[in-house]
Formats: sequence, C-alpha cells, structure tokens
Amino acid sequence: MKILVINCGSSSLKYQLIDMDTEGVIAKGLCERIGIDGSRIVYQPAGGEKTVTESPMPTHTQAIKMVIEALTNPETGVVKNMDEIGAVGHRLVHGGEKFACSTIIDDEVIKAVEECNELAPLHNPANLIGIAACQEIMPNTPMVGVFDTAFHQTMPEEAYLYGLPYEYYKKYKVRRYGFHGTSHSYVSKRAAEVLGQPYDSLKTIVCHLGNGASVSAVKNGKSVDTSMGLTPLEGLIMGTRSGDIDPAIMEFIMKKENLDIDEMMNVLNKKSGVLGVSEMTSDFRDLEDAYLAGNQDAIRAMKVFAYRVAKYIGAYTAAMNGVDAICFTAGLGENNRYVRNDICAYLGYLGIELDQEQNAKRGEDLVISTPESKVKVMVIPTNEELAIARETLALVQK
Ligand code: AMP
Repeated sequence: MKILVINCGSSSLKYQLIDMDTEGVIAKGLCERIGIDGSRIVYQPAGGEKTVTESPMPTHTQAIKMVIEALTNPETGVVKNMDEIGAVGHRLVHGGEKFACSTIIDDEVIKAVEECNELAPLHNPANLIGIAACQEIMPNTPMVGVFDTAFHQTMPEEAYLYGLPYEYYKKYKVRRYGFHGTSHSYVSKRAAEVLGQPYDSLKTIVCHLGNGASVSAVKNGKSVDTSMGLTPLEGLIMGTRSGDIDPAIMEFIMKKENLDIDEMMNVLNKKSGVLGVSEMTSDFRDLEDAYLAGNQDAIRAMKVFAYRVAKYIGAYTAAMNGVDAICFTAGLGENNRYVRNDICAYLGYLGIELDQEQNAKRGEDLVISTPESKVKVMVIPTNEELAIARETLALVQK
C-alpha cells in the first residue's frame, strides 16, 4: 500500500508518499507560503530531480491539489491516479488526554481534536485545516491522525503533574503532555533493534535535539517522563525557545521592559534559546561554525545548551533508576558531534566513554560509545514520516 504522510503547518505543508511494501519514499516535498504571496511547491521523486514551482496557493486545499497534481503528473509523477494512494497519515500536535494512540479520523475525532486547540493554538488548527483539505479532495481515502503527545500518555501522575493547585488540572487539564512523541517512540524502538535487546526491558533516554528539542525517559517501551510540558516551551534550551526558567522572571522582565504578556511570550518563544544567549543565531549549523572558530558568543550558547541536556539525562537516569542507552536524534543530535561530546563529557559518573571515531560518523544508526562504556550511547536518525506511515497502515489494515 502507498501512504501519503501530511504534516500541515499554518503556512506550510510537508508531504511524503511512502511505499509500505519496501518502506521506501516514492516522492516528497513541501508547499511553502500558503496564503501568502510567493507560494511555491517543492517536489522530489525518488531518484529524480527536485523541482521548485511558484504557483498561487491561497488555501491549504489549493496546496493539496498541487501536491496531487505533482504526484500524478504524467511525465514527472509517481502514481497514475489518486486511487493508488491507500490512506493518508496526518501529523497532529496535541491530542490532550483524549488520545493515547493514533486513530482513524472521523467527525467525532475532529471534534475532540478541536477541543484540544486551546492547548496548541499555533499547531492544531493548522493540522485540522490539512485534514479538511485532504478530505475535500480525497473523500473516500481513509485518514489517520498520529499525535505528538500520544506516546507520552503513559507518564505516571508524579511526572505529569505540576506543583500547582490541583484544581487547575481538574478544571483545565493543566499538566505535562510532552511532544515529539512520534520521534521518541521511533528512536527508542530502533535503539532496541540495533542493540538486539527486547524493547520492553530497556531503559532509554532519547535526546531529540533539533530546532525544537526535548528529552524523554523510555522505560520498558513506555515514556515515563519528558522535558516538554503543557506546551513545547518547557525543558531544554532550544533554537529560539527558553526552555525552563524561573516563572518569576516573567513578572520581573515585564515590569522592567514594560512588556505585556503577549510580548513576553514572544520573547520566550522567538527571541530566547541559543539565539538569545548567543545574540547571534538560532541555527545550530552557524553556531557550530562559530564555535569551532572560537567565537565566545557561540561557545557560551553551546555550553549552556549542552549543560541543560546533561542535567536532564541525570534527572531521567534517576527517574528510571538507571539507563541502558542514550540516543541522540534530529538535526543537531544526528549531525553535531561536538555537542554530543560536550554533553557526554558530563556523564563520566555513569561510566560513559565515547568512541571518537564512531562519533565523527554520520547518517546511519550508530553506537558511538566504546565497548567498555557502561551505558550505550547511540545516534539514531529519526524518521517521523515513516513512523506515521506505519501507524496509518496498522490502523487501516485492522
Ligand atoms: P530539525 O529541527 O530536526 O530539523 O533540526 C534543525 C537544527 O539542526 C538546525 O538548527 C540546524 O542548523 C541543525 N542541523 C541540521 N543539519 C545539520 C548539520 N548537518 N550539522 C549541524 N547542524 C545541523
């Protein structure tokens, strides 16, 4: 079966068509600047040339139409018609407490997801627009929703409750949800496969280090804690997000700088993280270049970033009463050996030793610790699209 995976944002839409017999990508791409001047579609068939076509896309429905035109184009397309696509898997960001697993999308599910919009106002409405657009164009194709929060629904109460009045949890469901669940699930499972050990008896810490970054503790195949919270702002220092701060800082800065709450939230989401600390860039590639050139601003930002990750690894080792494997994934986790090295430098007490030759490699599942290391350290490239396609296939075949 061929499955189309859709990851729909407010002005962009990423897509991948995956052949589930081989789990190979048949074609992929994205639509950018939907509803804005200068919209364009990027399309790349497997083994073929990448094309970028500018075309007006006032709505997401128009964007999906363009994707389908690209996939079925008689010359450069990869399928004859849409009937060849067996199902569509949609990435959904927030499923609240309602969704502990993926689900076939029907009217009831859409209503339940809408009820979670408040918890992810930037993401959920955009995800739902993507679903509506696909339903309009492919009314007979089954659609599956795969939630970023679902994998973390196994967290125990002590991990997901905040030290706030309990009534906020009862009234508004204010609690830790966690995100990047599809990636944490995929990577922790893959780590068990690579190590040849049973998933249900392994203690793994997954460090998903990208522009957004989070750490999870996965014990016996279940997420037992994760660093993002009610929203994706908590936890690690990210590209532009602050991660954990003393909540009283908000009042202090708002008074000093005469900011309202929206302006303060904008600072925490868009102007903080390594961008804020380095006063230079949110892009870890640029930061890495500057770090290697000895730039003190970049070194400061990378040190603060690595220290926070190391603290979470320590905390999750305690939460699981031990750790068997630490996995690095996502743009930075997969590609930046210096940051992996700086993080692991804090972990000698766990008996961790990196093999620098292995640590310098890229692009594959790797064990980067020495054979003597007491805890395995790994690089596992994440593949959220494949994970979504697998979930979709499993539900459609049921
Ligand atoms: P993601 O959110 O997973 O796409 O990761 C994005 C972040 O990873 C950006 O800050 C990139 O600069 C960084 N990144 C991506 N590729 C590389 C690379 N080859 N080397 C270093 N950093 C990278």
